[in-house]
Amino acid sequence: MNVEFICVGTELLLGNIVNTNAAYLSEQCAALGLSCFHQSVVGDNEARLTEQLRTALSRADIVILCGGLGPTQDDLTKEVAAKVMGKQLYLDENTIDRIQQYFEERGIEATDNNWKQAMMPEEARVIDNDNGTAPGVIMEENGKIVILLPGPPGELVPMFEKSIKPYLAALTDEVIYSQTVKVCGVGESKVEDMIADMIEAQSNPTIATYAKIGEVHLRVTARAEHEKAARKLVKPVVKELKARFGTKVYTTEDEVTLEKAVADLLLANELTVSVAESCTGGMLSARLVNVAGISEVYKSGFITYSNKAKRRLLGVKKSMLDKFGAVSENVAREMAKGAANAARADVAVSITGIAGPDGGTEEKPVGLVYIGCFVCGTVTVKEFRFSGNRIKIRENAVSAALTLMRSCILEYYSQVTFGKKE
Ligand code: ATP
Repeated sequence: MNVEFICVGTELLLGNIVNTNAAYLSEQCAALGLSCFHQSVVGDNEARLTEQLRTALSRADIVILCGGLGPTQDDLTKEVAAKVMGKQLYLDENTIDRIQQYFEERGIEATDNNWKQAMMPEEARVIDNDNGTAPGVIMEENGKIVILLPGPPGELVPMFEKSIKPYLAALTDEVIYSQTVKVCGVGESKVEDMIADMIEAQSNPTIATYAKIGEVHLRVTARAEHEKAARKLVKPVVKELKARFGTKVYTTEDEVTLEKAVADLLLANELTVSVAESCTGGMLSARLVNVAGISEVYKSGFITYSNKAKRRLLGVKKSMLDKFGAVSENVAREMAKGAANAARADVAVSITGIAGPDGGTEEKPVGLVYIGCFVCGTVTVKEFRFSGNRIKIRENAVSAALTLMRSCILEYYSQVTFGKKE
């Protein structure tokens, strides 16, 4: 079965808001095994929306429209969809009650135009909106399905999860099962190169690669009659990916982030940690502190942006700063040692670099970052040259620091399995 999305809203066309609904729906439908060949954005315009919906219905089994279900005059998705599907609108009593209740609970008076949201296409399935007033709609006619969803992601996502996903899943007698292999410390092109043969040969399961900042996720998806059979298809492919990427695989669990994997490693080995950051200004600390339970091991973070702070808080020598500059291998090394020393931590990480847009030279260009990692007395420093704007360089530096921490700790224990002290 194939699906097509139409996101409605002039503000999307003008670039005032980012079309996160399209990204969300694409990912969800792919995971359900639905093929998507077209997506579009249309402004709040009856003629153009009508034309777009007709075109979509001519080539897709399912068309999902989002946005334009609001109470105002320019919200016309439902009216257009009903007309194209040849349906009249009627006033739905249940929706009236829900809208009334929604306003009562919030102590607000409904305005007359709110009742427009209770007008429903005849024979349509009305999907309750637990987070707003615009219900969703499912229309089935002549083998085609049209689904209308509210625009705000805070309404669309829970509605999709609760009602639309099970509805779509029930349309096929196949089950889709996915597992994600998350890889850090290898670039996207290298990853693709390393699995080119597997991608070439894939049919069921499929392997999709998603490049993230400083990491790559490989999603292995299989379809089968039931979940057990789908899992059985996924298992050997995941095993093969793990064999190819070895310790670069930090997890195969969806909910585990890179910082969580690093935190688990610290916690399992009872290693305390400290962080010294210059150009990332606390971003690495923030990512570590994202992980619940990190307080067991996280001791302190030093934001040492100025040379003075590097000297005063971390004990970096003035002569070293003068000789090599703040962005140098030597200073990164001293910062890591200094942070470990000052916090009496087993592990310490330092980041010093040029995030730009100014401050670069031919010898030390924007994007040059040194990351140091101290693990129980041994310091490793790596040089990186990141591209992109200031925020991208800083985000890349943080991911690289987490990856370096992980590899240095694993190396220290010289073992590939997580969490076991020798
Ligand atoms: P409402 O009932 O709140 O009026 P609606 O279904 O009419 O909802 P719109 O009026 O089209 O939806 O959009 C409301 C808001 O939802 C937008 O201002 C925007 O913040 C968000 N939104 C709409 N479409 C998208 C989208 N495709 N991606 C992300 N956000 C969106």
